[in-house]
Amino acid sequence: MEVLDVLKVVSPTNRGRLEKPPGIYPIRIWWEYVGVISIIHIVALAAVWPWLFSWVGVASVLIGHHLFGMFGMTIGYHRLLTHRSFQCPRWLEHTFAVLGVCCLQDTPARWVATHRVHHQHSDHQHDPHSPLVTFLWSQVGWLLVKDRDFGKMAHLDKYARDIVRDPFYLWLERGQNGLFVFLAHAVVIYLIGGVIGLSYGGWSEAWRMSWSLLVWGVAVRTVFVWHATWAVNSITHMWGYRTYETSDDSRNNWLVGWMTHGEGWHNNHHALPTAAAHGRAWWEFDLSYRVICCLEAIGLVWGVSRPELKQAVKKAA
Ligand SMILES: [Zn+2]
Ligand SMILES: [Zn+2]
Repeated sequence: MEVLDVLKVVSPTNRGRLEKPPGIYPIRIWWEYVGVISIIHIVALAAVWPWLFSWVGVASVLIGHHLFGMFGMTIGYHRLLTHRSFQCPRWLEHTFAVLGVCCLQDTPARWVATHRVHHQHSDHQHDPHSPLVTFLWSQVGWLLVKDRDFGKMAHLDKYARDIVRDPFYLWLERGQNGLFVFLAHAVVIYLIGGVIGLSYGGWSEAWRMSWSLLVWGVAVRTVFVWHATWAVNSITHMWGYRTYETSDDSRNNWLVGWMTHGEGWHNNHHALPTAAAHGRAWWEFDLSYRVICCLEAIGLVWGVSRPELKQAVKKAA
């Protein structure tokens, strides 16, 4: 492949041909998800209020995108829990999982089960979020309607048995424990804002900074990580170049690759799902894999999966 192929956009040719997954019929709105997604977006919109602006808040989005988005979602939920592309101590795995829960993308067991279904049925009717239905469906629509199997213990036992047999992950499945973990981390960030404000500006600044961090460091960051993750479901199954001939429509997309710490090299990932590295070519920068390598170098991670290219399906012409 030529370097400039990275700029090549391959448009989908068969968009709209796919029916929605049969499990969603008869359609029932998932009001809990609609409510939570709406509320967090509305709170994030408060960031346009100048009183809430602070550079600390802006920094908290960037730091949080890496801390929660990369360590929690990309390294934790995706490469470790779903694909077991490396091993680490249980305390570190649970730490990654808690950071993932703080992204409000559901519990580890449910996320893992959904993503494994995606790999098993990618861009076919049982895929929970294929953009071959519509772009909006894959971006967020699929989250707003109930699937009759989703979240049921039998479903989790089938697709995420390794997760639910861990008592900690099982505890997260009970009631609203996952949501409580998210709310607890929001309170901690709010208090950190208060301490920062108090340290240089007294009680009035503590009051302002705590709200600034809540809006920027929790709501704006959560919305940003949501859309970055959802872009992997939608954009990287629509636009980009294909290095490998896979049975789905997955693409390598540089914009999503940079936005999601390497998750946008999605065609590579579908070709070699258990590989810890999603970037294969030199320009496919994959920060998550670099971090995994650093953790491996200091002995916190081992058994990193590095399948040979020859094990992958043949290269696209
Ligand atoms: Zn995919
Ligand atoms: Zn995957």
